[in-house]
Amino acid sequence: MRTTWDCIVVGAGAAGLSGALVLGRARRRTLVVDAGGQSNRVSEGIGGLLGHDGRPPADFYASARAEVSAYPTVELRQGSVVGGEAVDAGFVLELADGSRETARRVLLAPGMDYRHPELPGAAERWGRSVFHCPFCHGWDHRDEPLGVLDRGASGVQRALLLRLWSDDVTLLSDGPAELDDGDAGRLGDAGVAVDERPVAALRGPGSALTAVVFADGDERPCRGLLVPAPLHQRSTLAEQLGATLSEPGPVVADAIEVDATFRTNMPGLFAAGDVIGGMASVARAIAAGHSAAALIVHDLIDEAHEARDIEPRSPSAAARGR
Ligand SMILES: Cc1cc2nc3c(=O)[nH]c(=O)nc-3n(C[C@H](O)[C@H](O)[C@H](O)COP(=O)(O)OP(=O)(O)OC[C@H]3O[C@@H](n4cnc5c(N)ncnc54)[C@H](O)[C@@H]3O)c2cc1C
Repeated sequence: MRTTWDCIVVGAGAAGLSGALVLGRARRRTLVVDAGGQSNRVSEGIGGLLGHDGRPPADFYASARAEVSAYPTVELRQGSVVGGEAVDAGFVLELADGSRETARRVLLAPGMDYRHPELPGAAERWGRSVFHCPFCHGWDHRDEPLGVLDRGASGVQRALLLRLWSDDVTLLSDGPAELDDGDAGRLGDAGVAVDERPVAALRGPGSALTAVVFADGDERPCRGLLVPAPLHQRSTLAEQLGATLSEPGPVVADAIEVDATFRTNMPGLFAAGDVIGGMASVARAIAAGHSAAALIVHDLIDEAHEARDIEPRSPSAAARGR
C-alpha cells in the first residue's frame, strides 16, 4: 500500500502543533487533524509558559497554527479521527466526515479529558476560578481566600502547596477529612483551616467565585478553588491503533505507555503531550511533541533505507556529488 502521508498528527494542541512544526521543517508530508478542543482554551491565560506567560490560549494556538501552516508539506485539517487500524505499511485512520487517510507513522497528541467534580457551579468556572493546577492558576489568585476540595493525604499536600499563594486557605473535605495527627498538625502549623461540612454549590458572578455554599446553607468566602480533576483518554483511538494504556493512577487514569523515544508498543505509533501522563503543562507538551517528531523523522529514514527506497537526491546535490 502506498501511504498518502509520512505522518498523521492527531490533535493540534501544544504537542501536536509542536510535532507538526518539526515534521514540516523536515519536509515530511504531514496531515494534522484537529477537533479544536485544547484543554486549557477556557482559561484566560497560559500560566508559566516561557515567552508567552499569561497569553490567551486562543491567541497562542492561532499563532502556532500560522507558523505550522507556512510549511508546504503540512496540511491542517479541522475534524476528528474516529477510528483507525494498523496495517502492513502503516496506519489507516477514519475521520468523522467519512474520509480515510493512510500514513506511515501516526503521532497521537489528542490531549486528555480533565474530569473535575460535578459540583453545581463548577463547570462554568472551570479553568478560571475553579482549577486543578496551582502552578497554572495560583498566581492569578494570590492573596485571595482560597479553598482546596479534597481530603486525606492528597488534600493535605495540595493545601500546603496552595499556601504559597495565599495565607487564607481552607481544606474543604466535603465529609470526614481523613487526617492523621501528623496531617492535622502540619495543616495547623501552616494556618490552613479544615471544614468538613458537605459542599453543595459554588456561588459568584459569571466565571468568578465569591463563596462556597454548604449543604447547611452556610457560606464561606472563596475566590479560587483547587479541585481534583483526574485525566482520562478522550476516546478509544489509542487502543484501536494497538497502544497499551497504563494502570489507573490518582492523577492520570489511563495514559498511553511510551518509551523514552515516545514510541508506543505498536511499531510506527508515537504519542506526546497530556496523553502520555506525567505533569500536564503546555511547556512539557511542546517539548514532547518536538522530540517525538524528530524521532519520527529518524524512524522514517531508517525504514526507507531498510526498504532500499531512499529518496532521490535533488539534482543540485547530485551535481555537487554530495
Ligand atoms: C483548564 C486548564 C487550564 C490549564 N492551564 C494551564 C496553564 O496555565 N499552563 C500550563 O502550562 N498548562 C495548563 N494546563 C495544562 C495544558 O493545557 C495541557 O498540559 C496541554 O494543553 C496539553 O497539550 P496537548 O497538546 O497534549 O493537548 P490539548 O491541548 O488538549 O490538545 C489536544 C487537541 O487534540 C484534539 N483532539 C482530541 N481527540 C481528537 C481526535 N480524535 N481527532 C482529532 N483531534 C482530536 C483536541 O480537540 C485538541 O484540540 C491547563 C489545563 C486545563 C484543563
